[in-house]
Amino acid sequence: MQQHTTCPYCGVGCGVTATIEDGVMTGVEGDREHPANYGRLCVKGSALHETLGDHGRLLAPRVDGREVSWDDALASVANRLTAVRERHGGEAIAGYLSGQLLTEDYYAANKLFKGFLGSPHLDTNSRLCMASAVAGYKRAFGADAVPCNYEDLEEAELVVLVGANLAWNHPVLFQRLRTAKQRNPLLRVVVIDPRVTDTCEVADLYLPLKPGSDARLFNGLLAFQADKEKLDRVYLERHTQGFDAALAAARDEATTLAAIADDCDLDVEALETFYYWFASQLHVVTLYSQGINQSSSGTDKCNAIINCHLAGGKLGLPGAGPFSITGQPNAMGGREVGGLANQLAAHMDYHTPGAQALVTEFWHAPHLPDGPGLKAVELFKAIERGEIQALWIMATNPVVSLPDADRAKRALAKCPLVIVSECMADTDTLAYADIVLPASSWAEKDGTVTNSERRISRQRGMLPPPGEARHDWWIITQVARYLGYEEAFAYCHPRDIFVEHARLSGHANRADGVPRVFDISALAGLDRAAYDALVPIQWPVTEAAPDGTARLFEDGCFATPDGRARLVAVTPHAPRQAVSGAHPLRLNSGRVRDQWHSMTRTGRAPRLLNHRAEPYVDLHPDDAEVAGVADGGLARLYNAHGEARVRARVATAQRRGEAFMPIHWNAQFSNAGRVGTLFAAHTDPVSGQPETKHGAVALAPL
Ligand code: SF4
Repeated sequence: MQQHTTCPYCGVGCGVTATIEDGVMTGVEGDREHPANYGRLCVKGSALHETLGDHGRLLAPRVDGREVSWDDALASVANRLTAVRERHGGEAIAGYLSGQLLTEDYYAANKLFKGFLGSPHLDTNSRLCMASAVAGYKRAFGADAVPCNYEDLEEAELVVLVGANLAWNHPVLFQRLRTAKQRNPLLRVVVIDPRVTDTCEVADLYLPLKPGSDARLFNGLLAFQADKEKLDRVYLERHTQGFDAALAAARDEATTLAAIADDCDLDVEALETFYYWFASQLHVVTLYSQGINQSSSGTDKCNAIINCHLAGGKLGLPGAGPFSITGQPNAMGGREVGGLANQLAAHMDYHTPGAQALVTEFWHAPHLPDGPGLKAVELFKAIERGEIQALWIMATNPVVSLPDADRAKRALAKCPLVIVSECMADTDTLAYADIVLPASSWAEKDGTVTNSERRISRQRGMLPPPGEARHDWWIITQVARYLGYEEAFAYCHPRDIFVEHARLSGHANRADGVPRVFDISALAGLDRAAYDALVPIQWPVTEAAPDGTARLFEDGCFATPDGRARLVAVTPHAPRQAVSGAHPLRLNSGRVRDQWHSMTRTGRAPRLLNHRAEPYVDLHPDDAEVAGVADGGLARLYNAHGEARVRARVATAQRRGEAFMPIHWNAQFSNAGRVGTLFAAHTDPVSGQPETKHGAVALAPL
């Protein structure tokens, strides 16, 4: 039997065709019909069936270290949350979710926490990867709305990749781009990244810019567009506001090419070539990812990029637009339902006129908070201070992934009640759980995810969950029922949740007369059969666009009160974690090609470990020599927050004065390789996203 589903790893959201024989998944291949990948898969996706099996899975609920029945576990969760609520109020309860959850899980959790537990503190690990992209879009367009799609990469004349190692992190998109270049020799690619990566293979121009200088680079580009009269004056006049202020801010610093090149550590001729290519082409896609977002000024960097597109009228067209690529498979779905602490629901914020009344009425919610909650990094600081008495973590491993990760450990150790829903039996975070709830995993659960191009796809359950594992939406729903909210959580299937979410999106879109862009109300009538058969579709999906919407803002009308996009005045800021004599190396972090997050799933496939078998640090030869670290030897990186002990790899692909470590290794594989211990918990003031590409460390041989 073959079943169509979606890959659970990166934000490309590839369709997967799985073969099931005698209750076992025997193979996977790319779904030839899926518009994200048309049959392609990367090495992670092609090994999906090798990561399955009951071994290492969490098989039974536990309360205070004892295996218990589901009834006992659910009653314990409900009773203890009720006790915290009665004693300290809903504000003492928090949830920490994940872009690994399906949209239906996310919706149910958001509704339970915000509507019924009265807690505004529901945030997600998506805060660590795309919060600045969200904030940038909202400031510019009035909505968290990605205007482009993957075909735009193939229709562009110029693709600019900035802070995005596509070859490793979004490999199928990289394959699509490489094929597009082979078919169209006129398509140019610019790669902007401090590190020489495999993505440079497709670069016509490579700019090894100084880490943190992105806003300066794009401010300079805006000034260049103006100086060379490459602005789209008609577009600016008709469809935007804020150009003069944005240009004035860009001109606050010297805008000669020599000055910008100097500030960004770039060759002046290469810089001019990039500026000229960008300014003279209409069909330009700038694709950006964590190199932009994971910064203490990530939102400004996003807006500096968007400013350049608005100034040239380079969006709302085939092959044009500022395109944020999400890291996780369902970071976008979480955003849709309001699964961030600053959101309420259905792309509405707390301050959206009429939103609180609408959501209260729609959910029949007894305890809706009246303002935003704490974002991830601040949330864990509040836990450490004792302000949060109960935390429910779902499908994520914050002890590995948060900055200042040892502080996250201390916070969890102090929290009186930690509930963890998890599918694997051995994660770093489980060690701190009072109540453990075994969750189903990919290939077992049904629901939807939304990829980076706004495309909603079905994940399909094909195998039974092992042991007592249950679906996340079911666990949340059952807890709600134990809390006495049967009617509001009378869901029997993920479809019931999806259609409620779709209905709410339609109501939200009419809340204050300002279009929200996110609207899937045309899917609110799906019955079980139609939900099961749902084909990938890009939102908005409305009565006017029942087949979805490939591209946004084609009419130049944005989701702001006056319909105009905003250019934002950006003042570049240096990273908060400054290098010093004591900590002279700038630390960067990122993924490796064949692993995913904290390796709890990809670490189960031996062939995926072949690529990089152990944690490591990439160093420039000069830095290695000064520290006395040999290529292939062991190195110690340390600062006031923590330390890591890893293998050294010495090569000139790494800029002098900079080091790179992968994010994946957890205690199960190597406790000494957690890069999160080395980052201070500094965040972007607008988005709350932490600065996890700019640490400052010392280096020594081991
Ligand atoms: Fe999965 Fe991403 Fe690879 Fe596609 S590119 S198969 S979504 S990991």
